[in-house]
Amino acid sequence: MQVVDAASSLRRALDEVRTGGEAVGLVPTMGALHAGHRSLIERAAGECAHVVVSVFVNPLQFDRADDLARYPRDLSADLALCAAMGVGTVFAPSVAEMYPEPPRTVVSVAALGARWEGVSRPGHFDGVATVVAKLFCLVGPSMAYFGEKDFQQLAIVRRMARDLSMPVSVVGCPTVREDDGLALSSRNALLTRSERRAATVLSRALEAGCAAGRGEDRPEAVARAMAAVVAAEPLARLDYAAAVDARDLSVPSALSAVPEVRLLVAAEVGQVRLIDNCALTAHGGATLAGSRRGRHNRTAGEPAPSA
Ligand code: AMP
Repeated sequence: MQVVDAASSLRRALDEVRTGGEAVGLVPTMGALHAGHRSLIERAAGECAHVVVSVFVNPLQFDRADDLARYPRDLSADLALCAAMGVGTVFAPSVAEMYPEPPRTVVSVAALGARWEGVSRPGHFDGVATVVAKLFCLVGPSMAYFGEKDFQQLAIVRRMARDLSMPVSVVGCPTVREDDGLALSSRNALLTRSERRAATVLSRALEAGCAAGRGEDRPEAVARAMAAVVAAEPLARLDYAAAVDARDLSVPSALSAVPEVRLLVAAEVGQVRLIDNCALTAHGGATLAGSRRGRHNRTAGEPAPSA
């Protein structure tokens, strides 16, 4: 496995790989790798001869300096995990390497980037789209792997790649959860013991939304059922709960009016902001808890967003 921190050497190394006829698959991450990231790397390794994992905590997508400062980092553990998984190249650049000067060119995905996470974290998705576009240019992957855990991010990256005719297939991978339903996230490491217990409130809210969606056609009613679960958890503060059209993340006039409904929830648990989502299945039966760590939940195989 080669570990590269300079953009120029990355390009050279991958030019050689591509010249050798090997397909390059990219898994962009911010490090502190866990089983969710591992599932993306496994999927990439199954489909591409050469897997590149990028590890970069991108300052452009943080709207709060304290959030950026305390984001978990553990590069040596990340490198050990990547080496054990047969990753070909890890790209771990410094901030100065990625942004030698403040970028004047920023990728902004209109509408999709302005709702939900975009409201709570102004500029966040411009930062995400810009760094992903840069990584696509530097790595030149034919495939790139993103988690459904960050459903809005996945939708935005897909849309950016389509709008800008980027020659890369964006692959969405199902959310990996803990036994009790909590979606794996690097931010979970910041939770205290009691907050960790309370953090299951997000997946419980999604389950409540799925149950409420049975025989219900009003998105607001489903959102209310989700919000009520979060309101009952003293350590949690709801940011948003919504039932949306999976294609563009807008709230539909009726659930039955759209082909696929996605439930979204975001809440602060203690000082830690967490997000989660799942598909609202026609039978309303998603069960997020009880899936083994490292296993995909039952939304696996659902169509990824096409927005
Ligand atoms: P991050 O390091 O949090 O920026 O995440 C890097 C990639 O891993 C993103 O595409 C995430 O959506 C994905 N990811 C994070 N957590 C999970 C999870 N629990 N299951 C599947 N993918 C995940």
